[in-house]
Amino acid sequence: MTVDAFRPDVVIIGSGVGGSAVAHKLCGTGSKILILERGDFLPKEPENADAVAVFVQSRYKTEEKWQDAQGRSYRPGQYYYVGGHTKFFGTAMFRFRESDFREEKFTDGTSPVWPISYDDLEPFYTEGERLFGVRGAAGQDPGEPPRSSPYPHAAIPHEPLIADMAQRMTHLGLHPFHMPSAIDFGPGGTCRRCGTCDAFPCRYGAKGDAETRFLRPLLNHPDVTLWTKAKATRLIADSDNRKIVAVEIDRDGEQMSIDAPLFVLSAGAINSAVLLLQSATDSLPQGLANQSGVVGRYLMNHHLTGLMGVRPFQVNNTKFPKTLSINDFYHGLPDDPSARGNLQMLGNIAGPMIRSAYQNIPKPAANWLGRHSVDWLAMSEDLPTHDSRVRVLPGGKIEVNYQPGGRQSHDRFVRHAQRLLKRAGFPLVLRHSFGIKAPSHQCGTVRMGLDPDHSALNTYCRAHAHPNLYVVDSGFFPSSAALNPALTIAAQSLRVGAHLRAHWRNDTMSL
Ligand SMILES: Cc1cc2nc3c(=O)[nH]c(=O)nc-3n(C[C@H](O)[C@H](O)[C@H](O)COP(=O)(O)OP(=O)(O)OC[C@H]3O[C@@H](n4cnc5c(N)ncnc54)[C@H](O)[C@@H]3O)c2cc1C
Repeated sequence: MTVDAFRPDVVIIGSGVGGSAVAHKLCGTGSKILILERGDFLPKEPENADAVAVFVQSRYKTEEKWQDAQGRSYRPGQYYYVGGHTKFFGTAMFRFRESDFREEKFTDGTSPVWPISYDDLEPFYTEGERLFGVRGAAGQDPGEPPRSSPYPHAAIPHEPLIADMAQRMTHLGLHPFHMPSAIDFGPGGTCRRCGTCDAFPCRYGAKGDAETRFLRPLLNHPDVTLWTKAKATRLIADSDNRKIVAVEIDRDGEQMSIDAPLFVLSAGAINSAVLLLQSATDSLPQGLANQSGVVGRYLMNHHLTGLMGVRPFQVNNTKFPKTLSINDFYHGLPDDPSARGNLQMLGNIAGPMIRSAYQNIPKPAANWLGRHSVDWLAMSEDLPTHDSRVRVLPGGKIEVNYQPGGRQSHDRFVRHAQRLLKRAGFPLVLRHSFGIKAPSHQCGTVRMGLDPDHSALNTYCRAHAHPNLYVVDSGFFPSSAALNPALTIAAQSLRVGAHLRAHWRNDTMSL
């Protein structure tokens, strides 16, 4: 069925950071905006803060099944809600470094150049920080890129155990700093320091997620319509395979098609690639935006290793530990420049989280570890490789054949971090790798670039092959850097939104 009565000017597919930021920019231009979101609003309920419900029972994870390269089926750690993955994110809000936009050679691969520079994004990083309400302290983070204005809010103070940790790291000659965070904490703020945050949804609306900070304020605008439980299943191109003319939708079981002059695909790196591949036709067998063959390739997710520093006689009562980070090794260890990355506090690891990953560990032991550990995250750049790939199999199942790049260098960085924590007074330091089954930092599958033979999108995330199709989510990343992605997704999405606001009618008409 085609919906004749309703013809939006812009269809945005996905309500995560990318889609919401573009909607924010286009709202008020007179364009009618339709946002399609496959999920619903995430309910505010007691289970939001219940580690057993969230981790052991996987209450909020999709029921969908994907498979790995060996054909093993699994339920991915994907969350389909208004606001996308930010409903569960840990609120760390970093700007990438200037060097992250340049090519860099590592012992085990190359981090490619971006077609835009840090300077192109700087004004939009500033705008993103303001919109997300980021709290931070400029001037503490070594290697921090130049900024045109201070953080909108002062940094969140450390709780006692984290302040002690910062001091121990300083004594080791490092430069720990207050981690920038999008939490509404402080006088008049809504954060209640409930103790669950990273990887949990927020019952109080204090987390600066895309729904709360970007989308909610738009929903009363007469030009903005949000359809929840509306999954885009296919994009349709015209007979020349140039312009996209319609999107097919499954709206709560009803099949329909919507025509529009402009489409913004923001379904997340994996699902945006899937939709482009699923839209293949006899005359375009590789799918949309894919004359280069890169769509679905170069999947990255960061090398992420959790480090639990255990002091048997110390109970960790910290409510919000994510106030501390270390970037002294962002450009490598003194004698090993490829072993590099960021260190930051993780949200508290509770017993049920440990049991969800290691089923054989007895409950009392998991709970004891959860209470006695101070939890860090070591994050390194995942180098893009051509064969790291998302595919749609015949029959429609999604296959994720993830090939991480630079694992050995990350391992050396992690061993260094373990030694540091031991020197900082933790006799036992356990490690756990977060794999691709929970693709929390997924990116790179619809990469942007200057050369249409080797990229899908131009510098404004417009498909080289389709003048009215923009892909605006972490899929556009040419490289992953070694810092959390949400603020960079927001900055480029705001930049694309500003560009569309000024130019899209002219652009699409002239191409
Ligand atoms: C537990 C966790 C902790 C994290 N912590 C941090 C952190 O501290 N800092 C940070 O910077 N980043 C963090 N991240 C990563 C960050 O949340 C993501 O990088 C970011 O939210 C991705 O935004 P996006 O717009 O690219 O995609 P998404 O957030 O995936 O948004 C895509 C949206 O599209 C919808 N959708 C998908 N397919 C379709 C379809 N076919 N039709 C209609 N709608 C569709 C989805 O439901 C979703 O709402 C974390 C992620 C997780 C899971």
